[in-house]
Amino acid sequence: MYRTHTCGELRLQHKGQEVTLAGWVQRVRNLGGMTFIDLRDRYGVTQLAVNEDSPAAVKETAGALGREFVVQVAGTVIERSNKNAKIPTGDVEIAVGSLNVLNASGTPPFTIEDESDGGEELRARYRYLDLRRQPLQNALKLRHRMAQEVRAYLDSQRFLEIETPFLIKSTPEGARDFVVPSRMNPGEFYALPQSPQTFKQLLMVAGYDRYFQIVRCFRDEDLRADRQPEFTQIDCEMAFVEREDILQTFEGLAKRLFRSVLGVELAQAFPRMSYADAMRQYGCDKPDIRFDMRLHDITGRVKGKNFAVFDTAEYIGGICVPGAAGYTRKQLDELSEWVKRPQIGAKGLVYIRLAEDGIKSSIDKFYTPGELQQIAATLNAKQDDLILILSGEKKKTQEALGSLRMEMANRLGLRKSNEFAPLWVYDFPLLEWDAETQRFYAMHHPFTAPKPEDLPKFYSADRADIAQVNANAYDFVLNGTEIGGGSIRIHDAKVQQRMFEVLGFSKEEAEYKFGFIINAFRYGAPPHGGIAFGFDRWCALFGGQETIRDYIAFPKNNAGRDVMLDAPAKIDSVQLKELQLSNS
Ligand code: ASP
Repeated sequence: MYRTHTCGELRLQHKGQEVTLAGWVQRVRNLGGMTFIDLRDRYGVTQLAVNEDSPAAVKETAGALGREFVVQVAGTVIERSNKNAKIPTGDVEIAVGSLNVLNASGTPPFTIEDESDGGEELRARYRYLDLRRQPLQNALKLRHRMAQEVRAYLDSQRFLEIETPFLIKSTPEGARDFVVPSRMNPGEFYALPQSPQTFKQLLMVAGYDRYFQIVRCFRDEDLRADRQPEFTQIDCEMAFVEREDILQTFEGLAKRLFRSVLGVELAQAFPRMSYADAMRQYGCDKPDIRFDMRLHDITGRVKGKNFAVFDTAEYIGGICVPGAAGYTRKQLDELSEWVKRPQIGAKGLVYIRLAEDGIKSSIDKFYTPGELQQIAATLNAKQDDLILILSGEKKKTQEALGSLRMEMANRLGLRKSNEFAPLWVYDFPLLEWDAETQRFYAMHHPFTAPKPEDLPKFYSADRADIAQVNANAYDFVLNGTEIGGGSIRIHDAKVQQRMFEVLGFSKEEAEYKFGFIINAFRYGAPPHGGIAFGFDRWCALFGGQETIRDYIAFPKNNAGRDVMLDAPAKIDSVQLKELQLSNS
């Protein structure tokens, strides 16, 4: 037996017991005649004590130990004279009777401790060493717990876990596909799934009723911060359901995860908000509702006072930043620059300060103190608050205000990682018009059903009508992050064909790319709908981290590379030839 206990297990109650442990040497401290060794495994750290009275062989081996050596140690559990309250095993140590090096280690390129001295790139190259660190071990343990709870809950709800293929046909869902050349079918390619969307719908056609899978998805997107080219979804689909059934079922899942993983009891039903309300009140379709600071439309109130910027704007809106009236001129100038950044895109910032010595604004020339008071009242502003106003084209300005709202919340520390505010957002537009390519794109994906009441508009010949069609789609939002999204699906072959027509596919193209699913809908497809959650992101949020990389054992870097494997990489000419990708 390699060990009787783990390195995280021993307490005072084990005093006097003979034990055997195995693990990695975290640190060796020589203090005169004493040597203390911290022995680590995934369960914790236990101190080993070697002193003058230890067997000669033990003293010799201890003297030769280096960091990350793998050792087996046998000895007696004794009470420590110098207790360490910071670790659970801190009351005891092992008086070493025998010490056996199972494997030596080269000096690790960085310290394997909670705060490592290694940079990101270096740690990524030695990911297997980085993974020994406690924060990463905790992250992967949390991920494991989440996965187990997801399975247990969905199983209790009669979902079946069914795997779907990775080598499929390219069916674009918004992003680019990763493709795989087929040796046996020269010149032809598989695609890796962006999600199992069509398969899960086919499983509904096949009568499986409730499906789920914790599944890898692949999207060849330009990488933004914190996106991975392969990521994991909790992918789910249900037949014979309406939106309400789906929201209830997955609210149940979320509540269970909150309870069992975080110990947070969410008794209330999750709030719900239409997409239109989210845009109007928060300037964003995934609002963080842990704090208020909502957008107020003041267009009607401020026009007609000869301030050209407002008079020519389609929309003028403001937010009231609580307690920020003390913002200095310099800070306001800096904020004004911030909103002009291309990502935000506002032209300028107007402020009203409700300071102790009276109301002050950057538009004093155009508005009397009384009028400014009225604006402040519209925003429910109080003494000491700061009002920030943007103007311009409606949607863009709402979005810019939404970003400003988040920025101010970050600056004021209103986004606390131990507070959770889940939210359902629903009734998204079905389509987005792209001016550049002059065509509609599905906002969610082409299998999302239009709201039944919008079907006449969906069949209209007028683009403006089609643009107004709402989707029976919903997102699950947590603390300003979209964690999941789904929809009630089209299950009627004709409606699906109309969808492809609206998306600008010719009949032949639609047939070539999606014939299999349109065909399946002709053989008794039940009404169905589903949802998929971003598993990596959900784990990160529960772990209180911004980045998903720590929650993936072997992630890619920001450029989509695995720096440990050094992939992607060239393949040799024999392989290329076999795949008919080169003839040299
Ligand atoms: N397949 C969709 C996605 O990956 C989710 C869904 O509609 O269920 O976003």
